[in-house]
Amino acid sequence: MFKILIIEDEEALVAALKRGLSAEGYFVESSSNGREGYLLASEKHFDLILLDILLPEMNGFEICEELRKQGNLTPVLMLTAQGDELDIAEGLDLGADDYLVKPFSFVVLMSRIRSLIRRTKRGSIEQTTAFGLFLLDPDAHRAFCGEVEIVLTAKEFAILGYFLTHPRSVISKRELLDELWDMNYMGDPNIVEVYIRRLRQKIDPLLRAPAIETIRGVGYRLNVDV
Ligand code: CA
Repeated sequence: MFKILIIEDEEALVAALKRGLSAEGYFVESSSNGREGYLLASEKHFDLILLDILLPEMNGFEICEELRKQGNLTPVLMLTAQGDELDIAEGLDLGADDYLVKPFSFVVLMSRIRSLIRRTKRGSIEQTTAFGLFLLDPDAHRAFCGEVEIVLTAKEFAILGYFLTHPRSVISKRELLDELWDMNYMGDPNIVEVYIRRLRQKIDPLLRAPAIETIRGVGYRLNVDV
């Protein structure tokens, strides 16, 4: 049985989500307080976290950032208010996996939840993979560039893994979306750019050169000869 944690302070929304998710067979816990929710998320295992942004004591961004810093890779689906595009970008930068704009339909929520849980299991590589200076160990969820360990979120890990298993290929944004996000992903395809930027920020300083090359109008290529 999959376990979902809801961190949200809108009581009516939490009650509706709990009812709906329980009826779908999920085990649900919730907290309306940011700090308490964060503690729950760091102490117990969940398969997914539904995370509001504005919360008492600790906001959704801080929660997400702290969890990722700890190496907690539970998929996070952010619940954002309408028109908060900056919030969305920031949330993704801090390690959230996807977002939904309120108010959302329960059907859409369910499809996102299923795909995120499935992707977490599926989107990752299965065995230790090395190419150039890079080495990924999916069992331990550890990534190395030479001797140096790179701390990656689940999605960043999956993207780097995809590059490593398609050496020297140019990979389009569409391909990454199709392979690593849900086919029904309705959000902005530019989400890929956010992740590529994050990966570059982590990798480039180690190689002292741009590792992920942009092939204009086509896609990206991991440059291992830098
Ligand atoms: Ca709120």
